[in-house]
Amino acid sequence: EAKSRGRNNVQIFHPSMLHATQQRSRTAAELRNAIENGELLLYYQPVVELATGRIIGIEALVRWVHPTRGMIMPESFIPVAEETGLIVDLGRWVLQEALQQLKSWNDVAPLPSQLKLHLNLSAAELLRNDLLEDIARSLERRGIDPGRLVFEITETVLMTRETEEAQVLGKIRGLGVGLQIDDFGTGYSSISYLRSLPADTVKVDQSLIEGMDNDAGQQTFVAAVLQLIESAGLQAIVEGIETAEQVSQLRRLGCRFGQGYYFGRPLPAAETVALLNSPLPSA
Ligand code: C2E
Ligand code: MG
Ligand code: MG
Ligand code: MG
Repeated sequence: EAKSRGRNNVQIFHPSMLHATQQRSRTAAELRNAIENGELLLYYQPVVELATGRIIGIEALVRWVHPTRGMIMPESFIPVAEETGLIVDLGRWVLQEALQQLKSWNDVAPLPSQLKLHLNLSAAELLRNDLLEDIARSLERRGIDPGRLVFEITETVLMTRETEEAQVLGKIRGLGVGLQIDDFGTGYSSISYLRSLPADTVKVDQSLIEGMDNDAGQQTFVAAVLQLIESAGLQAIVEGIETAEQVSQLRRLGCRFGQGYYFGRPLPAAETVALLNSPLPSA
């Protein structure tokens, strides 16, 4: 392979790269079994209305409880899953598990009408041929309103010019399911796309608000980004909120919704249920 790239293109191979490669293929092999063996687990993190602390959503975040390595976080296996195509089976599992959980919660005590379930969707899943059917049937089978579901998709995926992917996104919306831009501000965001994206909400990445506490320039910048989102007719949710100070500043800037450790860390389902019908601390 190195040779095919031309003889002037020297490929330096470091032993640590071999280790990384071996580690990846081991992870890929183990992940395949993990999905079948029930080693995946969903944690849930609330999305709240800043002014009231009222929960308007709950995001499912996958974890892998490995028999010997313990809890593995998504950064360590989602990229591998995406590269190997295993993300399709993983996503299939996440959809069923999360919808079943939503139904169980709703059976115990009817969920507040505003509460939505957020699921992360990778680019490769858009090309899965039975995606739409699976979404529609899975919702219908459990009597869940499509409006309860929101898919979080990174901006690079939403900006696709691939007609096939764009059509799938349009069809997802056609089902009545919401689409949200995730990690806004980290990808290659072309602001002109913002108005034509097939989305209704935008999740602003944590990196944008990290330094805002005592940086007036950053606050002005965040204000402008929030205005940009609003002027595109989209609703903003800021993620990664960790302090009361950030909450009050964001509220002052007119931001209505947020998510972050300040309101609640991702928790297993059993610990999440207590949050669903009670407001979290606002600022
Ligand atoms: P994301 O969708 O942008 O999720 C937000 C990440 O930030 C989560 O990390 C969450 O635990 C973390 N976070 C939330 N609030 C705070 C905060 O206040 N401070 C800090 N420092 N971090 C905060 P997590 O759970 O490790 O997930 C990482 C990424 O993995 C997700 O980023 C998402 O892109 C991906 N992912 C997770 N679950 C799934 C899934 O089921 N399917 C797919 N395709 N991707 C997933
Ligand atoms: Mg997300
Ligand atoms: Mg995000
Ligand atoms: Mg992220």
